[in-house]
Amino acid sequence: MLLDQPRQPLREASVPDPEPGAGQVLLRVAACGVCRTDLHVADGELSEPKLPLVLGHEIVGRVVASGPGAARFRAGDRVGVPWLGWTCGTCGYCRSGRENLCERARFTGYQLDGGYAELAVADQRFCFATPQGYDDAEAAPLLCAGLIGYRALVAAGDAERLGIYGFGAAAHIIAQVARHQGRRVFAFTRPGDGAAQRFALELGAEWAGPSDQPPPEPLDAALLFAPVGALVPAALRAVVKGGVVVCAGIHMSEIPAFSYDLLWGERTVRSVANLTRKDGEEFLRLAPAVPVRTAVEPLPLSAANQALERLRRGQLRGAAVLVP
Ligand SMILES: [Zn+2]
Ligand SMILES: [Zn+2]
Repeated sequence: MLLDQPRQPLREASVPDPEPGAGQVLLRVAACGVCRTDLHVADGELSEPKLPLVLGHEIVGRVVASGPGAARFRAGDRVGVPWLGWTCGTCGYCRSGRENLCERARFTGYQLDGGYAELAVADQRFCFATPQGYDDAEAAPLLCAGLIGYRALVAAGDAERLGIYGFGAAAHIIAQVARHQGRRVFAFTRPGDGAAQRFALELGAEWAGPSDQPPPEPLDAALLFAPVGALVPAALRAVVKGGVVVCAGIHMSEIPAFSYDLLWGERTVRSVANLTRKDGEEFLRLAPAVPVRTAVEPLPLSAANQALERLRRGQLRGAAVLVP
Protein backbone atom coordinates (compact mmCIF):
# COMPACT_ATOMS: atom_id res chain seq x y z
CA MET A 1 0.00 0.00 0.00
CA LEU A 2 1.52 3.28 -1.10
CA LEU A 3 1.16 6.83 0.21
CA ASP A 4 1.59 9.03 -2.89
CA GLN A 5 0.80 12.31 -1.15
CA PRO A 6 -0.27 13.24 2.38
CA ARG A 7 -4.02 13.57 2.92
CA GLN A 8 -4.75 11.04 0.17
CA PRO A 9 -5.87 7.46 0.80
CA LEU A 10 -3.19 4.80 0.45
CA ARG A 11 -3.17 3.10 -2.92
CA GLU A 12 -2.81 -0.61 -3.55
CA ALA A 13 0.12 -1.03 -5.94
CA SER A 14 2.50 -3.60 -7.35
CA VAL A 15 6.10 -2.46 -7.08
CA PRO A 16 9.40 -4.24 -7.83
CA ASP A 17 10.64 -6.45 -4.99
CA PRO A 18 13.08 -4.52 -2.77
CA GLU A 19 16.64 -5.84 -2.74
CA PRO A 20 18.70 -6.02 0.43
CA GLY A 21 21.68 -3.68 0.29
CA ALA A 22 24.88 -3.99 2.31
CA GLY A 23 24.06 -4.83 5.92
CA GLN A 24 20.35 -5.24 5.18
CA VAL A 25 17.95 -8.14 5.39
CA LEU A 26 15.02 -8.81 3.10
CA LEU A 27 11.93 -9.82 5.05
CA ARG A 28 8.64 -11.40 4.10
CA VAL A 29 6.23 -9.35 6.20
CA ALA A 30 4.11 -11.54 8.46
CA ALA A 31 2.35 -8.68 10.27
CA CYS A 32 2.64 -4.91 10.60
CA GLY A 33 1.00 -2.91 13.34
CA VAL A 34 -0.86 0.32 12.66
CA CYS A 35 0.48 3.15 14.82
CA ARG A 36 -0.81 6.65 15.45
CA THR A 37 2.41 7.98 13.93
CA ASP A 38 1.29 6.44 10.60
CA LEU A 39 -1.77 8.68 10.82
CA HIS A 40 0.39 11.74 11.47
CA VAL A 41 2.46 10.90 8.37
CA ALA A 42 -0.60 10.18 6.22
CA ASP A 43 -2.24 13.41 7.39
CA GLY A 44 0.83 15.53 6.63
CA GLU A 45 1.46 16.45 10.27
CA LEU A 46 4.96 15.00 9.95
CA SER A 47 6.23 16.91 7.01
CA GLU A 48 9.33 15.14 5.67
CA PRO A 49 8.21 11.75 4.35
CA LYS A 50 9.85 9.96 1.46
CA LEU A 51 7.24 9.83 -1.31
CA PRO A 52 5.80 7.59 -2.50
CA LEU A 53 6.06 5.79 0.80
CA VAL A 54 5.22 2.44 2.35
CA LEU A 55 4.00 3.23 5.88
CA GLY A 56 4.43 0.94 8.86
CA HIS A 57 7.05 0.57 11.57
CA GLU A 58 5.85 -2.34 13.70
CA ILE A 59 7.03 -5.04 11.31
CA VAL A 60 7.24 -8.71 12.15
CA GLY A 61 8.79 -10.63 9.28
CA ARG A 62 10.86 -13.63 8.36
CA VAL A 63 14.26 -13.31 6.78
CA VAL A 64 14.22 -14.28 3.11
CA ALA A 65 17.70 -13.11 2.12
CA SER A 66 20.60 -11.08 3.46
CA GLY A 67 22.60 -8.41 1.64
CA PRO A 68 26.40 -8.22 1.51
CA GLY A 69 27.93 -8.34 4.99
CA ALA A 70 24.63 -9.08 6.74
CA ALA A 71 25.27 -12.24 8.75
CA ARG A 72 23.34 -11.53 11.97
CA PHE A 73 20.21 -13.47 10.98
CA ARG A 74 19.58 -16.61 8.97
CA ALA A 75 16.88 -17.33 6.42
CA GLY A 76 13.64 -18.10 8.24
CA ASP A 77 14.48 -16.18 11.44
CA ARG A 78 11.61 -14.07 12.76
CA VAL A 79 12.67 -10.47 13.36
CA GLY A 80 11.00 -7.22 14.35
CA VAL A 81 11.65 -3.88 12.70
CA PRO A 82 10.94 -0.72 14.72
CA TRP A 83 10.60 3.00 13.96
CA LEU A 84 14.33 3.71 14.38
CA GLY A 85 15.71 2.47 11.06
CA TRP A 86 19.18 3.97 10.84
CA THR A 87 21.46 6.30 12.79
CA CYS A 88 24.79 7.87 11.91
CA GLY A 89 26.73 6.41 14.84
CA THR A 90 29.05 9.42 14.96
CA CYS A 91 27.11 12.49 16.13
CA GLY A 92 27.18 13.60 19.76
CA TYR A 93 23.82 11.99 20.48
CA CYS A 94 24.83 8.66 18.98
CA ARG A 95 28.10 8.66 20.93
CA SER A 96 26.36 9.40 24.25
CA GLY A 97 23.74 6.61 24.27
CA ARG A 98 21.03 8.85 22.83
CA GLU A 99 20.75 7.54 19.30
CA ASN A 100 17.01 8.26 19.50
CA LEU A 101 17.99 11.92 19.04
CA CYS A 102 20.53 11.34 16.21
CA GLU A 103 20.75 14.37 13.94
CA ARG A 104 20.67 12.18 10.85
CA ALA A 105 18.37 9.38 12.03
CA ARG A 106 16.13 7.77 9.47
CA PHE A 107 12.83 6.23 10.42
CA THR A 108 10.97 3.18 9.14
CA GLY A 109 7.72 3.95 7.37
CA TYR A 110 8.69 7.62 7.10
CA GLN A 111 12.07 8.16 5.42
CA LEU A 112 12.48 4.43 4.73
CA ASP A 113 9.83 2.17 3.26
CA GLY A 114 8.00 0.25 5.97
CA GLY A 115 5.81 -2.77 6.46
CA TYR A 116 2.41 -2.12 4.83
CA ALA A 117 3.71 -4.50 2.15
CA GLU A 118 4.49 -8.12 1.43
CA LEU A 119 8.26 -7.57 1.49
CA ALA A 120 10.49 -5.09 3.30
CA VAL A 121 14.19 -4.44 3.74
CA ALA A 122 15.79 -3.31 6.99
CA ASP A 123 19.25 -2.59 8.38
CA GLN A 124 20.05 -5.72 10.39
CA ARG A 125 21.62 -3.67 13.20
CA PHE A 126 18.25 -2.07 14.01
CA CYS A 127 16.18 -5.27 13.92
CA PHE A 128 15.18 -7.16 17.05
CA ALA A 129 14.70 -10.82 17.75
CA THR A 130 11.01 -11.11 18.65
CA PRO A 131 10.04 -12.80 21.93
CA GLN A 132 8.56 -16.31 22.06
CA GLY A 133 4.96 -16.74 23.11
CA TYR A 134 3.48 -14.19 20.72
CA ASP A 135 2.11 -15.01 17.30
CA ASP A 136 3.11 -12.66 14.48
CA ALA A 137 0.17 -10.28 14.88
CA GLU A 138 0.44 -10.24 18.68
CA ALA A 139 4.14 -9.38 18.51
CA ALA A 140 3.71 -6.42 16.14
CA PRO A 141 2.41 -3.80 18.63
CA LEU A 142 5.31 -4.52 20.97
CA LEU A 143 7.61 -2.89 18.43
CA CYS A 144 6.38 0.68 18.77
CA ALA A 145 3.39 0.95 21.11
CA GLY A 146 5.29 -1.29 23.50
CA LEU A 147 8.76 0.07 23.36
CA ILE A 148 7.98 3.78 23.03
CA GLY A 149 5.46 3.27 25.81
CA TYR A 150 8.20 1.62 27.84
CA ARG A 151 10.55 4.54 27.27
CA ALA A 152 7.78 6.86 28.50
CA LEU A 153 7.23 4.70 31.57
CA VAL A 154 10.95 4.80 32.39
CA ALA A 155 10.82 8.59 32.04
CA ALA A 156 8.14 8.64 34.76
CA GLY A 157 10.73 7.40 37.26
CA ASP A 158 9.47 5.41 40.23
CA ALA A 159 6.06 7.11 40.32
CA GLU A 160 3.59 4.89 42.15
CA ARG A 161 0.29 6.52 41.13
CA LEU A 162 0.47 6.67 37.35
CA GLY A 163 -2.05 8.48 35.15
CA ILE A 164 -2.35 7.28 31.55
CA TYR A 165 -4.11 9.62 29.13
CA GLY A 166 -5.41 7.97 25.95
CA PHE A 167 -6.08 4.26 26.32
CA GLY A 168 -5.00 2.87 22.95
CA ALA A 169 -2.27 0.52 21.80
CA ALA A 170 0.60 1.90 23.90
CA ALA A 171 -1.49 2.35 27.04
CA HIS A 172 -2.94 -1.15 27.00
CA ILE A 173 0.60 -2.59 26.98
CA ILE A 174 2.17 -0.19 29.45
CA ALA A 175 -0.68 -0.52 31.96
CA GLN A 176 0.24 -4.22 32.26
CA VAL A 177 3.92 -3.42 32.76
CA ALA A 178 3.08 -0.75 35.34
CA ARG A 179 0.87 -3.15 37.32
CA HIS A 180 3.62 -5.79 37.16
CA GLN A 181 5.96 -3.24 38.71
CA GLY A 182 3.50 -2.65 41.54
CA ARG A 183 2.32 0.77 40.38
CA ARG A 184 -1.28 1.99 40.61
CA VAL A 185 -2.82 2.93 37.27
CA PHE A 186 -5.44 5.63 36.61
CA ALA A 187 -6.74 5.69 33.01
CA PHE A 188 -8.17 8.69 31.22
CA THR A 189 -10.14 8.29 27.98
CA ARG A 190 -12.14 10.48 25.65
CA PRO A 191 -15.27 11.61 27.54
CA GLY A 192 -18.05 9.11 26.92
CA ASP A 193 -15.76 6.27 25.82
CA GLY A 194 -17.12 3.65 28.21
CA ALA A 195 -15.62 0.80 26.17
CA ALA A 196 -12.06 2.14 26.57
CA GLN A 197 -12.70 2.72 30.29
CA ARG A 198 -13.86 -0.87 30.77
CA PHE A 199 -10.84 -2.10 28.77
CA ALA A 200 -8.52 -0.14 31.09
CA LEU A 201 -10.17 -1.63 34.19
CA GLU A 202 -9.81 -5.15 32.75
CA LEU A 203 -6.08 -4.50 32.31
CA GLY A 204 -5.61 -3.56 35.94
CA ALA A 205 -6.34 0.15 36.14
CA GLU A 206 -7.95 0.86 39.51
CA TRP A 207 -9.85 3.85 38.14
CA ALA A 208 -10.90 4.87 34.64
CA GLY A 209 -12.70 8.05 33.69
CA PRO A 210 -12.98 10.88 31.22
CA SER A 211 -9.96 13.11 30.62
CA ASP A 212 -11.98 16.23 31.45
CA GLN A 213 -12.35 15.06 35.07
CA PRO A 214 -9.73 14.99 37.82
CA PRO A 215 -8.56 11.61 39.14
CA PRO A 216 -9.92 10.46 42.52
CA GLU A 217 -6.55 11.22 44.13
CA PRO A 218 -3.39 13.07 43.09
CA LEU A 219 -0.97 11.34 40.71
CA ASP A 220 2.80 11.00 40.94
CA ALA A 221 3.26 11.03 37.16
CA ALA A 222 1.23 11.09 33.98
CA LEU A 223 1.89 9.57 30.55
CA LEU A 224 0.18 11.28 27.61
CA PHE A 225 -0.44 8.99 24.65
CA ALA A 226 -3.31 11.02 23.20
CA PRO A 227 -2.15 13.74 20.75
CA VAL A 228 -4.17 16.44 22.50
CA GLY A 229 -2.28 19.49 23.77
CA ALA A 230 -5.03 20.46 26.21
CA LEU A 231 -4.16 17.36 28.21
CA VAL A 232 -0.81 18.86 29.24
CA PRO A 233 -2.26 21.45 31.64
CA ALA A 234 -4.93 18.92 32.68
CA ALA A 235 -2.23 16.40 33.61
CA LEU A 236 -0.14 19.04 35.39
CA ARG A 237 -3.21 19.85 37.47
CA ALA A 238 -3.47 16.15 38.39
CA VAL A 239 0.13 15.54 39.51
CA VAL A 240 1.68 16.26 42.91
CA LYS A 241 4.65 18.57 43.50
CA GLY A 242 7.72 17.05 41.88
CA GLY A 243 5.50 15.07 39.48
CA VAL A 244 6.36 14.55 35.84
CA VAL A 245 4.12 14.73 32.78
CA VAL A 246 5.55 12.68 29.90
CA CYS A 247 4.33 13.44 26.37
CA ALA A 248 4.90 10.24 24.42
CA GLY A 249 3.48 11.10 21.00
CA ILE A 250 5.45 12.44 18.04
CA HIS A 251 2.85 15.10 17.30
CA MET A 252 0.39 16.96 19.47
CA SER A 253 -2.16 19.70 18.91
CA GLU A 254 -1.19 23.08 20.33
CA ILE A 255 -0.79 23.25 24.09
CA PRO A 256 -3.03 25.99 25.50
CA ALA A 257 -1.42 28.68 27.65
CA PHE A 258 -1.52 27.87 31.35
CA SER A 259 -0.70 29.54 34.62
CA TYR A 260 2.81 29.06 36.00
CA ASP A 261 1.13 27.79 39.18
CA LEU A 262 0.57 24.48 37.40
CA LEU A 263 4.29 24.01 36.75
CA TRP A 264 5.46 25.45 40.06
CA GLY A 265 6.44 22.96 42.75
CA GLU A 266 9.12 21.37 40.58
CA ARG A 267 6.66 19.70 38.28
CA THR A 268 8.20 18.68 34.95
CA VAL A 269 6.81 18.43 31.43
CA ARG A 270 8.93 16.41 29.04
CA SER A 271 8.65 14.53 25.79
CA VAL A 272 9.89 11.13 24.74
CA ALA A 273 11.31 10.93 21.23
CA ASN A 274 11.79 7.74 19.24
CA LEU A 275 13.68 4.83 20.81
CA THR A 276 17.13 3.46 21.29
CA ARG A 277 18.07 -0.13 20.56
CA LYS A 278 18.71 -0.51 24.28
CA ASP A 279 15.06 0.42 25.00
CA GLY A 280 13.98 -2.26 22.57
CA GLU A 281 16.19 -4.96 24.00
CA GLU A 282 15.09 -4.18 27.58
CA PHE A 283 11.41 -4.05 26.74
CA LEU A 284 11.36 -7.17 24.57
CA ARG A 285 12.99 -9.06 27.46
CA LEU A 286 10.50 -7.65 29.95
CA ALA A 287 7.30 -8.18 27.93
CA PRO A 288 7.20 -12.00 28.09
CA ALA A 289 8.22 -11.92 31.78
CA VAL A 290 5.20 -9.75 32.78
CA PRO A 291 3.70 -11.37 30.65
CA VAL A 292 2.24 -8.60 28.48
CA ARG A 293 -0.76 -9.77 26.45
CA THR A 294 -1.53 -7.66 23.40
CA ALA A 295 -5.07 -7.13 22.14
CA VAL A 296 -4.90 -7.05 18.36
CA GLU A 297 -7.35 -6.90 15.51
CA PRO A 298 -5.78 -8.55 12.44
CA LEU A 299 -6.90 -7.04 9.15
CA PRO A 300 -5.87 -7.75 5.56
CA LEU A 301 -3.24 -5.46 4.08
CA SER A 302 -5.81 -4.08 1.65
CA ALA A 303 -7.79 -2.74 4.64
CA ALA A 304 -5.01 -0.30 5.62
CA ASN A 305 -7.13 2.77 4.92
CA GLN A 306 -10.00 1.46 7.05
CA ALA A 307 -7.58 0.62 9.85
CA LEU A 308 -6.19 4.18 9.82
CA GLU A 309 -9.68 5.65 9.81
CA ARG A 310 -10.79 3.54 12.76
CA LEU A 311 -7.66 4.54 14.68
CA ARG A 312 -8.47 8.19 13.97
CA ARG A 313 -11.99 7.70 15.34
CA GLY A 314 -10.83 5.80 18.43
CA GLN A 315 -12.72 2.67 17.36
CA LEU A 316 -10.01 0.10 18.04
CA ARG A 317 -9.58 -2.04 21.12
CA GLY A 318 -5.81 -2.40 21.47
CA ALA A 319 -4.09 -2.31 18.08
CA ALA A 320 -4.94 -2.97 14.45
CA VAL A 321 -2.40 -5.20 12.71
CA LEU A 322 -2.17 -5.66 8.96
CA VAL A 323 -1.52 -9.20 7.81
CA PRO A 324 -0.47 -9.52 4.16
ZN1 LIG B 1 23.88 10.21 15.05
ZN1 LIG C 1 4.73 4.03 16.21
